[in-house]
Amino acid sequence: MSEALTAKAGSVAIMGVAENMTAVRARIDQTCGRVGRDPGGVRLIPVSKTFGPELIKEAYAAGARIFGENRVQEAVQKAAALADVPDLAWAIIGHLQSNKVKQAVEVASEFQALDSIKIAEALDRRLQQASRSLDVLIQVNSSDEPQKYGLPPDKIEEFVLQLKPFSSIRVRGLMTLAVLSDEQSAVAACFMRMRTLQQRLLDLDQAPGSYDELSMGMSGDFELAIEYGATTVRVGQAIFGPRPLKQD
Ligand SMILES: *Cc1c(COP(=O)(O)O)cnc(C)c1O
Repeated sequence: MSEALTAKAGSVAIMGVAENMTAVRARIDQTCGRVGRDPGGVRLIPVSKTFGPELIKEAYAAGARIFGENRVQEAVQKAAALADVPDLAWAIIGHLQSNKVKQAVEVASEFQALDSIKIAEALDRRLQQASRSLDVLIQVNSSDEPQKYGLPPDKIEEFVLQLKPFSSIRVRGLMTLAVLSDEQSAVAACFMRMRTLQQRLLDLDQAPGSYDELSMGMSGDFELAIEYGATTVRVGQAIFGPRPLKQD
């Protein structure tokens, strides 16, 4: 993690979750003002992975209604612990394995990390059984790092065309994790690639889906992501405080 991010996360940790939410929302508003966007067009998803139900309740009290979790099992546990909290939704934002699809369909209101036809097929089957549909984003490996999940940008058009038969999956757009770098230009290049790709999909007549969603930007880079058109930012540490470095 960069020193700047550690310092930022460290200094927010001593404030409460509610204050941090307010501060992050203010930064979103400021960025939108600066680049001429409507703040209503940027959704903030607090990422609660590794943080417990008490902190989630604090964010809920501050207005959050959807939380991002990268592991289905963890989302299921927290959903159970918070079952008495009304109107609470979960976004699964991490890679999904076939054996977790059933639970994902039970707990998630959206899935942001689709990257294989196999998972799309399994999701669609479970969704049909449950008579529901699911908002889905396709994860793009915009930084071309081999260790990252997501499809390469040049494979996305071919991929979305293959999603046509899966009628319970509502393709809403794209998700990415930009390269973790202190070089702003490298991060911006990832976001630019995403924006270009979104435009290509909007222009592709045959593609199933709306492509109005661009989920990108985390604690260290959400303002830059908004400059490049993010409609959803996924922010963990700037709201909940620092996480232990390694959790995957
Ligand atoms: C953890 C995580 C985030 C949030 O990262 P922070 O640095 O805590 O803001 C966003 N997106 C995904 C997919 C994540 O796994």
